[in-house]
Amino acid sequence: MIETLPQSAVVPASDYVIIGGTGDLSLRKILPALFLRYAAGQVTDEFRLFVVARQEIRADEFRAKLEPHCAAAISALDDGAGLLGRFMNLIEFARIDISTPMSMKDLAGTLRDKASPERPVIFYLSIAPSLFSAACQRIDEAGLVLPQSRLVVEKPLGHDRASSQNINDELLSVFREDQIYRIDHYLGKETVQNLMALRFANVIFEALWNNRYIDHIQITVAETVGVGGRTGYYDNYGAIRDMLQNHLLQLLCLVAMEPPARFNADQVRNEKKRVLEALRPARPENIVLGQYQEYAHEVGSPTTTETYVALKILIDNWRWAGVPFYIRTGKKLKTRASEIVITFKNRPHDIFARDGITDDTVEIPNRLIIRVQPHEGLRLLLTSKEPGPGGMRLFPSELNLSFGETFKERLPDAYERLLMDIARGNQTLFMRLDEVQAAWEFIDPVVSMASETIPLMYREGTMGPKDDLLTNDGRSWFNPKEDA
Ligand code: NAP
Repeated sequence: MIETLPQSAVVPASDYVIIGGTGDLSLRKILPALFLRYAAGQVTDEFRLFVVARQEIRADEFRAKLEPHCAAAISALDDGAGLLGRFMNLIEFARIDISTPMSMKDLAGTLRDKASPERPVIFYLSIAPSLFSAACQRIDEAGLVLPQSRLVVEKPLGHDRASSQNINDELLSVFREDQIYRIDHYLGKETVQNLMALRFANVIFEALWNNRYIDHIQITVAETVGVGGRTGYYDNYGAIRDMLQNHLLQLLCLVAMEPPARFNADQVRNEKKRVLEALRPARPENIVLGQYQEYAHEVGSPTTTETYVALKILIDNWRWAGVPFYIRTGKKLKTRASEIVITFKNRPHDIFARDGITDDTVEIPNRLIIRVQPHEGLRLLLTSKEPGPGGMRLFPSELNLSFGETFKERLPDAYERLLMDIARGNQTLFMRLDEVQAAWEFIDPVVSMASETIPLMYREGTMGPKDDLLTNDGRSWFNPKEDA
C-alpha cells in the first residue's frame, strides 16, 4: 500500500476538470499524481475526473498513453494494473474546443448533476496561456464559476511584469484571487516544506538565522539535461525567467522570510512577499550568464539566450543586511541537484591553534546543507576531534539526515501534495498575485541587463562558466555531492 500523508488529511470528493487533459503535463504529472493519491485512498471513487481536449479520445488508447507514466506505482502496488483500471473508471472524456463559444454547455450539465457547496469543482488549465482567457470565458458562460469552483494555472504566466498582469487580469475578470491556485511545483516538494518545519518547529536554528551568525547562503538548482525539444519556448524565455523568477526566488523567500504568526496561506505569503520587496535591485556586476556549447546548434541559429544564470542578491532588512545570497541555475551541468547551503561565520576565537594544541589553522565553517532533490535530506557540517591519544587534531564531520532512509517510504511527488491541497482549499503553497508581481519587479531589470550581455560559453558536464562572483568576495561555490 502506498501511503505517505497522514490519515487525518481528509480530502473532499471533487470534480477535477483537466482542460488539455491529453497533453504532456496531464499525462506525465497531473494524472499519475491523482492515481497515486487514489492508491493511497485520498482520491476516492466519489471523485470525477474530466479530460478535456479537441481530439476524439478512446478510453483504451488513453490508458495505453497514461500507463507508462504510472509504471513505477503499478509495480509497487498489489494489483497495480487492476487499480489503474478502477482509476480509469473515474475519468470521463469531453471533446471540447474551448475557443468556441458555449462549447462547455454539455459538460456544465454533467457537472451540475452533482454540484454542491461541499464538492469542489477544479478547473486545471493544462493548455497554452494564450488559451487561458477563452477557457475562463467558457467556464463563466456555462455558469460554472460557483463559490466552490477553483482555477489552477502553471507557469509561464507572462514574460515580464506587464504581461503577467495582463494574464492575471483575465483570470481575475472571472475568478476571485482566493479561487486561483498558481502552481510552482517546487513549493510542493517535501524538503521545501520541511524547510519551514526546520526553521519554525525548532528553536536551535532560528537563533542563528541572521547576519550575526550566517556568512552567506547559496542556492543551486542544477540540471544535467539540456533544453531538448523545447527550444522554441526556451529560446524566448531563458534561465532567468524559466527558473530564477519562480523556483529560485521561492526557495530564497522560504529561507529568508520572518516567522509568520500562523502557518496559513495569507500569513506565509505576506512574509514571502516582504522578502521580495526587500531585495536590493540587482547590478550588472552581480549577474553571470552562461550558455552550454551545443545550445545554438540545437536552436539552429546564433542566440544569446542564457541556459545558466548566477546572481548575487542582497536583502535590505535587519535580519539579512550584509549577508549575500548567491543563487544559480543551469542546464547540462555536472550534477542534477537542488540544494540550499547555509554557511555560518567562522568561530570568533580559536582556542586550539592559538595555544599550540593544534597546528590546524584552516577554518572549516559550519554548514547546513538542505538537499531539495534528489536524495532529499539535511547535512550539518561540524568540526570534531579526531579520535586517539595523539593530541588534539580537528577534522570535518557531519550529521546526516536522509529523509529517504529515515522515513523508509516513498516521498510523494510535489503534484500529489499540491493537487490535494487544491481540493482542500489550502492556498499556502501557491503563489498569490502580489508575490508573483513582486518577483517580476525584481526580475524585469535583471532580464533587461541580461539582454545587453553575451553569455559565457560552458562545456556540458561542468558547473557552468567560470565566474568571479564569489571569488571577488573571498568565497567559492559549494558544489553538490553527486551521490549525496
Ligand atoms: P501540450 O502537450 O501541447 O498539451 C496541450 C493540451 O491542450 C492538449 O491536450 C490539447 O489537446 C489541448 N488543447 C489545445 N488547444 C485546445 C483547445 N482549443 N480546446 C481544448 N483543448 C485544447 O502542452 P503541455 O506541455 O501539456 O502544457 C500545458 C500547459 O502547462 C502549458 O501552459 C505549459 O506551458 C504548462 N506547463 C507544462 C509543463 C510540462 O511539463 N509539460 C511544465 C510546466 C508548465 P487537443 O490538441 O486535442 O485539443
